[in-house]
Formats: sequence, structure tokens, C-alpha cells
Amino acid sequence: MKTYRMLIGGAWVETESGQTFETENPFLGKPWAAIPRAGAADVDRAVAAARAAFAAPSWRGLSASARGALLRRFADLLAEDAERLAQIETRDNGKLIAEMRAQLRYMPQWYHYFGGLADKIEGRVIPIDKPGVFNFTREEPLGVVAAITPWNSPLMLATWKLAPALAAGNTVVWKPSEYSSASALEFGELFEKAGFPPGVVNIVTGFGNEIGERLVSHPHVAKVAFTGGDRTGQGVYELAARSIKPVTLELGGKSANIVFDDAKLDDAVKGVVSGIFAATGQTCIAGSRALVHRPIYDEFVSKLVAFAQTARIGDPSMDDTQVGPITTRPQLSKVLDYIEIAKSEGARCVLGGQRATAAQCGDGWFVEPTIFVDVKPSMRIAQEEVFGPVLAIIPFETEEEAVEIANGTVYGLAAGVWTTSIERALGMSQRLEAGTVWVNTYRATSYMSPFGGYKRSGIGRESGLSAIREYLQEKSVWIDISGNVPNPFVQR
Ligand code: NAD
Repeated sequence: MKTYRMLIGGAWVETESGQTFETENPFLGKPWAAIPRAGAADVDRAVAAARAAFAAPSWRGLSASARGALLRRFADLLAEDAERLAQIETRDNGKLIAEMRAQLRYMPQWYHYFGGLADKIEGRVIPIDKPGVFNFTREEPLGVVAAITPWNSPLMLATWKLAPALAAGNTVVWKPSEYSSASALEFGELFEKAGFPPGVVNIVTGFGNEIGERLVSHPHVAKVAFTGGDRTGQGVYELAARSIKPVTLELGGKSANIVFDDAKLDDAVKGVVSGIFAATGQTCIAGSRALVHRPIYDEFVSKLVAFAQTARIGDPSMDDTQVGPITTRPQLSKVLDYIEIAKSEGARCVLGGQRATAAQCGDGWFVEPTIFVDVKPSMRIAQEEVFGPVLAIIPFETEEEAVEIANGTVYGLAAGVWTTSIERALGMSQRLEAGTVWVNTYRATSYMSPFGGYKRSGIGRESGLSAIREYLQEKSVWIDISGNVPNPFVQR
């Protein structure tokens, strides 16, 4: 068992109470490392360190170009360490090594991109309609940013926050998920190596109810950037509102992959399978509903089931595994519960439908890739986020009906459209209530393109040019250039 420490003010420390908790390997179903179990006092220490770093000349006095250079140096170190970090992520969260490796290899781009943006944050001169004044704006950092992240893509989702927050000149206290803290703590070492001043990035580990709330409500935290479930996000939003803090919320989804009768069916089959099974359904953008045009419904379903059946389930650390375990024990029960709910509501299960117990699954927390057909849009399996390898297939007759069903949930994170008609592609991309629409592709993301949710899927955008604005505030500066301060008792 490896024992980790947390990063506060540039030092690797234990919690004040000395408590730790065990983190488990979902494939082996066994603990493998001890993680510090922080309490309120540790959050206070971390926020104080971040606040001191924000005011210190070593960070506040750094030129924007030098800040950018630090981020780019970090990117290079991350690229060198990508394979090791990917292995740790897979051990801790059970996601496929192929996926974690791809994420880690791509991740340095966020630090290059936002590092490059650091010295392109500019204000404006405003041609004010009053004589004798000069008015300009400054874009300033907010202060201490609290970053709270989930377990499914631990370093990637933190990166979406850390890169723009640091480029804008903020300091950060990051609380990773209690199910994926090990990779976060290993990642933290790279900030030191890159030369970030102590306290600019702090990492506190522990449970949401024990330290998350303290972090969100802390009076010296200026902003909360949260990714997680929508119910947790709602609580975070309510708590942040009490101290009027801005928030970015990246929450859940029930994304629709819509297959029209003019689609290239074999491509659509691959897209739907990759949307739901590739990450074992444990991704916010999972295409967990397939909406299929009636004329091709039977053909599409049989092709899809045949292809999904070929998925290799097993050890996530093997390069050729295609479906891995569920990351946490509670999540395993939740996914199995939803399968029972779907059956009891009358959805027909045509693939999987139970815990996977094949020899190669060992004692791991596996669920068989599961497909329900003849799902009605009102069923819970078509409305609620399962976050597992469970696909609900819903038939539709017209484009109008497809839009109505796709938009008919509380979520609006993403959608996929499979068609060969450009009119349909453009029309659907306008009508779908989703922060991302993919046409003839699925799950593509980039550091250059904004990502975020409509409706209950969230507030704010990560990645792309606009993301940096989430970590800045605008100041208006007025300077009298008339040299003649007027009599205050005479109206101008
Ligand atoms: P979660 O909401 O349970 O936890 C997310 C984080 O919040 C964890 O670090 C947790 O410790 C913390 N937390 C829990 N209770 C808290 C509280 N009361 N106050 C403050 N922090 C608290 O989510 P999860 O199960 O870790 O992740 C899965 C969820 O994340 C899914 O709903 C998924 O859709 C969502 N997600 C969204 C995106 C996106 O970008 N939109 C990306 C990935 C995951």
C-alpha cells in the first residue's frame, strides 16, 4: 500500500488529524493506496496558502508572458510523464488504459494553449461620451479558485479548470474525487518541478460532505469551478450563492445519438457504440439514448447488437480491452438498480442486463454492455443519467418527433446526429438544446472548442477562447484628463 500526502503551500503534508482513507482498484476490488482524509482545518490551511500565493510578488508580480512560460514548461513535463500518470489513473478508476493514455497524451495541449493566451488578455479603451475623461478596462484574476472534480476523467477535467485559471493569474485549491485522488497527487509534483511558486496550486483530498462544502463556502474562495453530478452541482450552486461567488458547473447528461434513415448505418453503429460503451458509459457525454428512425429501426438494432456483442470486457490495463469495470462500488449498485427499473417499466433487454462475471472480470465491478429497445421517452431509463454501459433505444417517425424526444429531458450536454443530408445536419444542430452537437462523429473534444451544458447540464464553458473569461473579472478605470475638477454642487 502506497501512502500519499497532500500539497499545501508547496509542502507535502499529512492532514491535521492524521487520518487517511483507502482507495480501491476497481478491477481487483481491493485497496491499493492510502489517501489523506482532510478536514475543515486542512481546507482552511490550503485556502490561506493559495491566498498568500495570490498576493505574493513571486506570482502576482510575474509578467503574463512568464506565467505563460510556466504553463508551457508544465505541458512539457506532463508530456514526459503521460504514460506513468495514465497507468495510475487506470489503477485507481478502472477506466481503459487506451482512453487514459489518449487523454494524457493530448492534455499538454491545454497548457500550451492557455499558456499562449496568458499574455493576450487585454483590456479596452472606451470612447466615453463625456469630455475630459479617459476610460479603459482591465481584465483581472479573481483570486483563489476552488476546483472540484469527479472520478471519471480525473486529470483531464481538472486540466480544463487549472489551465485557464492559472493562465488568468489565479491561484487554485483543487479537491479531486475521493475515488481518484492518487493521480491528482502525483500530478501535483509537476507544478513544483515546472517552477510554480509554492501555494499557487494546492491539492486537498477527502470527501465531498467533509471538505467540499467548506471549500465552496470559504470566505476567501473567489470562484468555484465544479464538475460532477447535477444534484451535487445544485448544492454547490446554492452554497456559493450565499457568498455571491461565481460558479462554473459542468454537470450530467442524457445525450441523444440520433440516427436518420439516410445515415451511413455502419458508421452510425460505430458512433453509437463508442458513445455509450467505450468509456463503460462513465462519461458525462455518454450517448445513453439512441433515437432511431423507424424505417431503419430493425436493421440498425440488429447491427448494433451484433457489433456491441464483440466488445472485449476485462482488465482495463490491457491495451486491447474495450469495456472496463465500473469505478466505484456505489456506482455498480446504481447501474444494476437502473437495469431492474428499466425491466420493470417494460423496456425490452436485448443485450446484457446483469453484472458481468466472465473469468477475465475476476472480482472486478463489471456490468455487461446492456441494450434496451422499445424504450418510451417517459421511462426513467430515458430520462435519468445512469453513468454506466446501458443504452436506451427509442424509435421515432419524423424529424420533428426526434427533436422533441431529444430535447425532452432536463439535460442538455451533447447530442449526435447521423445523416448524409447537409440540410438535416444544419437544421438539427440548430434545434437541439445541447452545448455540443456532433454530426457523423461522437465524443470529439479539443482545447480549442468550448464545452459546456445547456439546461441542467451546467453553467459556463470550459476550453476554447471563451474559457479564460470564466476566470477573469473586468475593471473599469476612469481618469480625469481635463485637469479641472468641477464644483460638485453644479450639475454638468
Ligand atoms: P459527484 O457529484 O458525486 O462528485 C463530484 C465531486 O464533488 C467530487 O470531488 C465530490 O467529492 C465532490 N462533492 C460531493 N459532495 C459535495 C458537496 N456537498 N460539496 C462540494 N463538493 C462535493 O460526481 P461523481 O460521481 O464523482 O462524477 C460523476 C458525475 O459527474 C456524473 O453526473 C457526470 O455526468 C458528471 N460529469 C460531468 C462532466 C461535464 O463536463 N459536464 C464531466 C464528467 C463528469
